[in-house]
Amino acid sequence: MDEATRLQYLQAMGIDVWVPRHQADSEPMATETSPTDSHHAWTDLQHQVSQCHACELCKTRTQTVFGVGNHHATWLLIGEAPGQNEDLQGEPFVGKAGQLLNEMLRAIGLDREQVYIANMLKCRPPNNRDPQADEVAACNGFLQQQIALLQPKIILAVGRIAAQNLLKTQQPLSRLRGTQHQLDGIPLVVVHHPAYLLRSLTEKAKAWEDLQFAWSIYQTV
Ligand code: SF4
Repeated sequence: MDEATRLQYLQAMGIDVWVPRHQADSEPMATETSPTDSHHAWTDLQHQVSQCHACELCKTRTQTVFGVGNHHATWLLIGEAPGQNEDLQGEPFVGKAGQLLNEMLRAIGLDREQVYIANMLKCRPPNNRDPQADEVAACNGFLQQQIALLQPKIILAVGRIAAQNLLKTQQPLSRLRGTQHQLDGIPLVVVHHPAYLLRSLTEKAKAWEDLQFAWSIYQTV
């Protein structure tokens, strides 16, 4: 991505940035070839999720929201749970928040198709309430299998709820961002949720800082 294009994306995010810190136009894809049965493993897992009734959310979902993206991606983004649009469309991070997430990714030279995006929960909590501990526990096995299949080089925990659950902490997002965490030996960086950024435009600059930080971590792994 050339500099002018990147600045366009940043402007679309509402961020006044004069100089991005790095060149991101050579984002590498994973070089290892997946096992020949990798495709079947993903398909099987997605089928398991679609049939899951392990928690109460199965009763109110329109459909499960498994995850989307490149099975060879080196970046894994993990959000909290499907919202209304996601529940209807069956894909995580769609609608305005999804568009902003795409712009955030492009700002660091990543297309949505180059990453993998999933949620902790595969079914929408009614009225977008916070996930309950038993629901997170019930669904965690699916996320763990996604991580095992993908073997990402870096994980972005998108938003406070995802970050607190993944890191098993109650610390506020302000204390979790800007630090390199680990999830099962994989570097994890916490970023603001785009839905939050849509409500709080002044926070977009922090989101850009988070992404730059994540990129700097990625360069070292
Ligand atoms: S949220 Fe997860 S554990 Fe609960 S029913 Fe949906 S897929 Fe199953």
